[in-house]
Amino acid sequence: MEYSDTIIYISSSVLLTFGYYLNKVLSKNKELEEKQEQEYQPLMDENIKIKEMNNKLKMENESLLKNINELSLEISNKDIKLTSFSNKLEEYYNTKKVIESEEKKTEEKKPEEKEIKFKNTGIGKLRYKNKEGTIYYHGMGHLEHNYAWWRPYMNRNIIQYKNKNRKIIYPEYETHDISYFCTNCEYSEKINKTQRSLFYYECKGHKINVD
Ligand SMILES: [Zn+2]
Repeated sequence: MEYSDTIIYISSSVLLTFGYYLNKVLSKNKELEEKQEQEYQPLMDENIKIKEMNNKLKMENESLLKNINELSLEISNKDIKLTSFSNKLEEYYNTKKVIESEEKKTEEKKPEEKEIKFKNTGIGKLRYKNKEGTIYYHGMGHLEHNYAWWRPYMNRNIIQYKNKNRKIIYPEYETHDISYFCTNCEYSEKINKTQRSLFYYECKGHKINVD
């Protein structure tokens, strides 16, 4: 064998061998590819399913978010109403408190007014006082004891004449208008039962310069 023949022979053998292996490798590759494809297909399917589910969840999520927003708005509206109601309630209680405080003040004022009436005696002359010298009285008293007409029930009484034309003879204890004469007196019901032209009023006393 010549040198060139040897080369051709070797080359052919090499090529044949290489061809054989190449073919084997290629077929193996194809096999693998098919196998891979077979394995890959379910994954693709799975992937599609997952994507679909993902979309569905996204939509659900959006719908839930929308619901949350709507509910939040509703809560906020209710909160505003509640706040407004609470404010009105507070206003009501404040007004009630003010009214109660005013009522209390008025009640506290009442004895004060009585005190003023007690101190503001009227235009009649104060003629008698109690033993302690703290309370003064209008009307008749011991200065009239010597008169024939004197009766004990007349003590501290003022006479008011119904007839305005009747002349006042004793201005110390007679008047045409009892409300100006004495500010703290009572209609003497028992004495006045039989009276037609004059009426007795009993002075209940006045505090002068006494606190
Ligand atoms: Zn009086």
